[in-house]
Amino acid sequence: MAKSPLRERKVPKRDGEVLGFVHSTESFGAVDGPGIRFVAFMQGCNMRCQFCHNPDTWKKNVGTEMTSSELLEKALPFRQFWGEKGGVTLSGGEILLQIEFAIEFFTKCKKLGINTCLDTCGQPFTRRQPWFDKFQRLMDVTDILLVDIKHINSDEHRKLTGYRNENILDLCQYLSDIDKPVWIRHVLIPERTDFDNYLTELGAYIKTLKNVKKVEVLPYHTMGVHKYHEMGIKYKLEGIEPPTSERVANAEKLLHVEDYKGYLA
Ligand code: SF4
Repeated sequence: MAKSPLRERKVPKRDGEVLGFVHSTESFGAVDGPGIRFVAFMQGCNMRCQFCHNPDTWKKNVGTEMTSSELLEKALPFRQFWGEKGGVTLSGGEILLQIEFAIEFFTKCKKLGINTCLDTCGQPFTRRQPWFDKFQRLMDVTDILLVDIKHINSDEHRKLTGYRNENILDLCQYLSDIDKPVWIRHVLIPERTDFDNYLTELGAYIKTLKNVKKVEVLPYHTMGVHKYHEMGIKYKLEGIEPPTSERVANAEKLLHVEDYKGYLA
């Protein structure tokens, strides 16, 4: 049976342009996609990853209000540093919660020949309409995606983030089907994701995708813990230390990191 369409939410606008809610920007990002990039971290996320080091991005509709023209104006002075590979990245929070803004911003960037990268955890992804049409429009103006797979096992994914992963894996499948370049990222957390069986399963899953240019293991770190204390939120990974370099190397082996060199060559 066909699924009923999603209810459209009202998109805030100013002077005919979609308004984005920006948490912060970084002028010389070196880890959020290929090359040197201007990165905008957008506000709002539904997930509650236990290891999230940016809980201050969770709240929706707060932060600095900007149109896509205003954000572009802020990014363009750095264009001389982007070279062949660099460009702009929209990150979060979860950028797909502001998909209309992302479409407008990337459309403007592509008109100027700027490389566009979307950094997402995939939680809002659905093939239901009208959302899926928007996502397809966004893909027309997106060069590469960074997709976080938080856990390959859906039950464990829910424990770790509050949400199951079926639609996130469906996003990965869709991106593979349309052959859109992606980097897959996975946070390695002792007692949560650092288990050989799950890493092996994730490694095998990634091998089924045709579009993966890079796989990154991100060692869990505790740099955001102070934000939880400041915000009065209980930190659920208290006492868990970052993984050892041996376990990081083990995860890189099980995820076949060496096999993906698409953006390193
Ligand atoms: S998806 Fe990203 S921003 Fe959202 S809770 Fe998880 S780590 Fe934090």
